[in-house]
Amino acid sequence: MSFEEKTLRTVPVVAVRGSVVFPHTDSLLSFGRNKSISAVNTAFQEDRVIAVFSQKNPESEDPEFSDLYKVGTIATITQMMTVDGEIHAMIKGQARVRIVEELAKEPHMVAKIEEIAEEEADTDESQALARQLTELFRRAVNLGKNVEIPVVMRIISGQAETVELVDSVAALLDIRIKEKLGLLNVFSVKDRLQKVIDLLAREVNILDLERTITMKTQKKFEDQMKKAMLREKKKTIQRELGELGEEDETSEDEVKEYEAKIKKAGMPKVAEEKAKKELKRFGQMNPNNPENAYIRNYLDWLTDMPWSKASPNNISITKAGKILDGDHFGLEKVKQRILEYLAVMKLKKDNKKSKEASQPTILCFMGPPGVGKTSIGKSIAKSLGREFVRVSLGGLRDEAEIRGHRRTYVGALPGRIIQGMKTAGTKNPVFMLDEIDKLGVDFRGDPSSALLEALDPEQNKEFSDHYLEVPFDLSEVMFIATGNVLDTIPAPLKDRMEIIAFAGYIDSEKLNIAKKYLWPKQVKLHGLEGSKLEMKDDALKEIIASYTREAGVRDLERNMAGICRKIARLVAEKKKYPAKIGKEDIRKLMGPKRFTSLIAEKADEVGMATGMYVTSVGGGILFVEVAIMPGRGKLILTGQLGDVMKESAMAAFTWTKAHWATLGLKRDFGSKVDIHIHVPEGAVPKDGPSAGVAITTSLVSALTGLPVRRDVSMTGEVTLRGRVLEIGGVKEKVTAAHRAGIRTIILPKDNKKDLEDVPGYVKKDIKFIFAAGVEDVLKVAVKNWPAKRNIKENAPHRSLIAQA
Ligand code: ADP
Repeated sequence: MSFEEKTLRTVPVVAVRGSVVFPHTDSLLSFGRNKSISAVNTAFQEDRVIAVFSQKNPESEDPEFSDLYKVGTIATITQMMTVDGEIHAMIKGQARVRIVEELAKEPHMVAKIEEIAEEEADTDESQALARQLTELFRRAVNLGKNVEIPVVMRIISGQAETVELVDSVAALLDIRIKEKLGLLNVFSVKDRLQKVIDLLAREVNILDLERTITMKTQKKFEDQMKKAMLREKKKTIQRELGELGEEDETSEDEVKEYEAKIKKAGMPKVAEEKAKKELKRFGQMNPNNPENAYIRNYLDWLTDMPWSKASPNNISITKAGKILDGDHFGLEKVKQRILEYLAVMKLKKDNKKSKEASQPTILCFMGPPGVGKTSIGKSIAKSLGREFVRVSLGGLRDEAEIRGHRRTYVGALPGRIIQGMKTAGTKNPVFMLDEIDKLGVDFRGDPSSALLEALDPEQNKEFSDHYLEVPFDLSEVMFIATGNVLDTIPAPLKDRMEIIAFAGYIDSEKLNIAKKYLWPKQVKLHGLEGSKLEMKDDALKEIIASYTREAGVRDLERNMAGICRKIARLVAEKKKYPAKIGKEDIRKLMGPKRFTSLIAEKADEVGMATGMYVTSVGGGILFVEVAIMPGRGKLILTGQLGDVMKESAMAAFTWTKAHWATLGLKRDFGSKVDIHIHVPEGAVPKDGPSAGVAITTSLVSALTGLPVRRDVSMTGEVTLRGRVLEIGGVKEKVTAAHRAGIRTIILPKDNKKDLEDVPGYVKKDIKFIFAAGVEDVLKVAVKNWPAKRNIKENAPHRSLIAQA
């Protein structure tokens, strides 16, 4: 064949739509239009060669030359079959062609065509690209690309020519017709390879993604199927065993029940819509779906919340006063404050138009345990006719404990606030937040900020809980916080609250509380009302003094409960029991004393002084012991003393060294002794400078051999030069010392003003000494002062004493 013959041919032309015939590929095409049938038939009868061109507009039923794309494919018809007037033909593409001359239009198009040469087919780059394409294709097939096996074999065997390879893959690409036509128009094999690689790479990515998704879905589906099947089996077994009640199967009744509950709950619109949406999901769900239980739980919470249920809102100050007085002895100041608070609340309610702060600030009861904080809170609820709930915040570190976990968590629940509201059952309860001073902060978030939102009248109308998902109105709740110490309450919270301090009780108050409230309560609780039981005052005093040591009355109440239990048993066993319990019966009923007798009854000692401390649970007394040994001026400290107290001890030692003359000691005594200072009762935290005077006194006593008066208790910071400085916690310290039987107390001069806070009945029993310097203290606390004159006979270490 000459060049002319090879490149220019006269052939029938057929238009196709919706597909592109690539050289080197087999395509099965169907022809129905008359012109096409004529063209294919003619070609098949002659040399089976035909030119296939895509038509530009697929809608066109009778395309002419002008409707065809410029580049087509010359092809051989390998098989042909006529069915119902339509021709189905297998066509094998040969080469790219373009029309050079239009020869005929009827009965089909005939044209002179020219073959388009392949460019850059055998360069090294093309070879490399071809290899890359083969590899990519292999991956596509591995990922599930749908290709007939013989075609795959031909492509990946590496036998095919580069031109053949690239067109075969192009024909198989999952792309639009337009893109395929684009590929037909690229005459450089290298460029075509590049384009096909890009397109195939995209396809591989998609296949990859599809496969991952399919695998995941498949696994999930299989798991669910398996579980559902197992569950069904379990049910069948249970049914056979008769263990399955009807209520175990989700039924339409349940959906109806929830519908009724939703209606009854009186929810705001948002909440109701949410509930209905969830219920719809619930109704459509397969009963075996594990999510079922979660939705049921959620619906229970939603419908059980007190959205609109409230106690009647009527405040009567006189009635409240009566109830508070009736339930509690003493606490006059506290009761007064509460009544004032209620009065303000009532005014605000009556005067609803004044919009600012529809809710008063939050009350916060501060004080040691057992002083009646909780029970006053209950009384407030009672006097307002509202429900009472209590939630402890102690040790909460996680914001989610206040605000709940999102429902996506397994076992998620609402936070404490919402739980409390559900327990209350009304939307306006008295809500007590216990141990607000023990809130923690850590990486899980700051619970106090969530709490702030709950307490803030600006925000709490729409309090959001993660579990509930819809806002809940807390604006009618009366919050009361309680705590033991003020310092650890987060500042922003403290700002929102009005602090009401509960001091501890003194013995006479405890006696009254026990007699009038605690004892009758316990007798009733133990069903002993009929047994004419009576507790004498001296018995109560004995319990208070020897079996309890506390600021409140919790232990006292517990002890009384113990006595009641013992007597109840005697009654039940029909044994004899003391109907009038006196002091002498206490020992028999309660065993040996738990706390030894009062300080005042003890002997005075050398090297031991009485001090006072204050902690979060109230005040107490402590003893400072000092021992002197021959040595080199070392200071040994034991009893878990804090750093500040250690410094106090050093200051005390320095002061004695500086005042050797006043004390009647040798000038260099300090370098000849070792000093051991010990503060017993390791459980009591000991820090702060206020033990300075007690340490100094004890040290002086040990050095001089003069005893310290046991019934004198002292507190105050000491400077190096012996000045006595002001300290804190006077009220707690004094009350605690009084409780311990102390009758003389030495305080720094500047603390005189604090005596105002000390209750009158305490003050009247006690003699106060106000000290400006250490010598004022020693004068009172150390027997036979001044030391210089009396030291000789008493000193334990004679070698230290200066010779007169
Ligand atoms: P807190 O909450 O401060 O720890 P509680 O309120 O639990 O203390 O009080 C402990 C017990 O002591 C309760 O039974 C309470 O009724 C009783 N109580 C405390 N103070 C008084 C008081 N002033 N009058 C009567 N009972 C009291």
